[in-house]
Amino acid sequence: MSDSAVRNVIIVGSGPAGYTAAVYAARARLEPLVFEGSVTAGGALMNTTEVENYPGFSEGIMGPALMDEMRSQAERFGAGLVPDDIVAMDLTGEIKSVTDSAGTEHRAKAVILAMGSGYRKLGLPDEDRMSGHGVSWCATCDGFFFRDQEIAVVGGGDSAVEEATFLTRFAKKVTLVHRRDELRASKIMADRAFANDKIEFAWNSEVAEIQGTDKLTGVLLRDTVTGETRELPTTGLFIAIGHDPRSELVKGQVRLDEEGYVLVREGTTETNLPGVFAAGDLVDHTYRQAITAAGTGCAAALDAERFLATLE
Ligand code: FAD
Repeated sequence: MSDSAVRNVIIVGSGPAGYTAAVYAARARLEPLVFEGSVTAGGALMNTTEVENYPGFSEGIMGPALMDEMRSQAERFGAGLVPDDIVAMDLTGEIKSVTDSAGTEHRAKAVILAMGSGYRKLGLPDEDRMSGHGVSWCATCDGFFFRDQEIAVVGGGDSAVEEATFLTRFAKKVTLVHRRDELRASKIMADRAFANDKIEFAWNSEVAEIQGTDKLTGVLLRDTVTGETRELPTTGLFIAIGHDPRSELVKGQVRLDEEGYVLVREGTTETNLPGVFAAGDLVDHTYRQAITAAGTGCAAALDAERFLATLE
């Protein structure tokens, strides 16, 4: 089944990148249709509490409230918002099509990809419940909340070591919890961490349990060699074991890097396919912030608008 209209632009994804692209595209009278996702509409900030670093909110704002505002702003200018998943995309032709979960095809001259990236989780029962209550995936976002506290970082790669080092600006002590007995991080990063007297290392250790009722009080560590367990009291747990960009649906059509992030032409949001643009954490290895996602969402809408003008 096909929705007969060929639209100007379809946006897939509803985080800060998708909604910002929708605001700009709607105000440019492109009548965008946004697929928000069924369960995760609103994106990553729906799983957090206070956001203190999004400009414009001097007292901070709760993540879901910020996303509701962005959604309402897009709606106010006439963006069509659909709380459904796109399950397939054909982006190679002049007219692109995306298929929703009911099997209906929606067609457009331009598509903006803004599906974000998922933070890898430990897979523990209380992990989601404690997100925003001591458990975090983002030191830049949440480090400030842990001033003078004892915190733990899980991981052994560059990002874990970088996060641990960054967190020593706030924390009294940081314990880096790693499954092996040596770091995977580059030597320069590792040396910096070894030289930092606020960082301790829990080698051959994995988190077996997240403890606390309303707020994190500690974690149970299991020795990966002996199987022995021990408690580590901590009020902050930063999980830094990687990200997975949600690019499966466009693999084989849109050019991706070796980690699955969408590649865009430098300084633009253009993918290798004319009329297909990408924004937000789906593209971004480096910054992964709501404001940078919103910024590239804006750029994607402007790039799409210019592309559509060349078709007239
Ligand atoms: P996302 O926000 O990941 O949104 C993408 C969304 O697209 C998905 O959630 C889903 O709804 C939708 N989608 C995906 N696939 C499909 C599909 N096939 N069909 C339809 N819809 C689809 N950043 C800050 O700046 N400040 C903070 O304080 C902060 N705190 C954070 C706290 C937590 C717990 C987390 C996880 C992240 C935090 N971040 C913070 C990072 C920030 O949330 C991300 O950088 C930002 O949300 C990325 O925006 P995005 O639009 O690229 O993607």
